[in-house]
Amino acid sequence: LNLRNKIAAGEVVERPASVVKELVENSIDAMASRIEIDILKAGKRLIRVSDNGIGMDRQDAIVAFERYATSKIKDEHDLFNIKTMGFRGEALSSIASVSKVRLITSQKSEIGTCMEIIGGNVKEIKDCSAIGTSIEIRDLFFNTPARRKFLKSDSTENYHIIDTVTCEAISHHHIGFVLTIDNNCVLNLSPSSSHIERILQIFGKDFASELIDIESGDEQIYIKLFLGKITNLRNNKNNQFLFINNRPVKDPSTTYAVYKAYEELIPKGKHPVFFIFITIDPVLVDFNVHPTKREVRFEDKNRVFNLVYRAAKEALKNGSL
Ligand code: ADP
Ligand code: MG
Repeated sequence: LNLRNKIAAGEVVERPASVVKELVENSIDAMASRIEIDILKAGKRLIRVSDNGIGMDRQDAIVAFERYATSKIKDEHDLFNIKTMGFRGEALSSIASVSKVRLITSQKSEIGTCMEIIGGNVKEIKDCSAIGTSIEIRDLFFNTPARRKFLKSDSTENYHIIDTVTCEAISHHHIGFVLTIDNNCVLNLSPSSSHIERILQIFGKDFASELIDIESGDEQIYIKLFLGKITNLRNNKNNQFLFINNRPVKDPSTTYAVYKAYEELIPKGKHPVFFIFITIDPVLVDFNVHPTKREVRFEDKNRVFNLVYRAAKEALKNGSL
């Protein structure tokens, strides 16, 4: 069983940033309004994610580390109608199989649970007091040295962690986020009331004021787009964000729709700034393509492409008025 978890871990946990993503998304699903992330040594020494969400009772906490144990999917209907960030129930078991975990959690007005797991084996369970959930991951890949060796420099791994938290923070603007790396506060975001306010918090006022915004669609597929002006092209793709049902994803076809809207206006080597938020009926999209859920399959790819293309066109027209 442990071997299977270790194999699964290779799919879900590529690097420290993958752990951060899974833990933060669990906190989001637990309806936290504040999530704190602490990192030491690029996540190789410590990743701690603490939230003020609904927490777990003793039984939930024990089950949470079993493979495919998810509290979020009850039947096949749920699997094709996903409303939570998690649904595969393999993140915690995968992470726990390749690290040393300490979980502290409690549900309202109940005695809390503190649990220690090393390499997937439960070492200790005891009472404690807690609010919400805090999960500490130490010595990632301590028992899979080959994977540990593949980790990049601290600055590269930190970059991926910051990118991961930034993406989650943009899409979940109503949640407060604090990211601390080696005791330096890197992000400190209070809950905000809109996407543009969150973009402003992260990127600054000048950046945010350069964006053209547009909304369109119907009750099945809805798009909110913030597009950089043609006078504001970049030399890299670092300021391109796509979220589908609040999930940060990569989808080359959707991204290409934006480039196409600029047509010949984009010189070679230049890239537009954009934030695309697509809200789509969960039955029209499949996130279950890869364990990391970073890829999507649309039931009607062209419909999404055209919606994004037309929105970007319209935004550019408005922006040049
Ligand atoms: P999934 O998110 O796909 O359900 P995970 O392995 O990520 O699977 O988590 C397993 C279960 O542990 C979740 O379904 C949830 O019930 C519980 N859980 C994990 N993290 C938290 C948290 N921060 N707060 C409350 N419950 C949590
Ligand atoms: Mg999860």
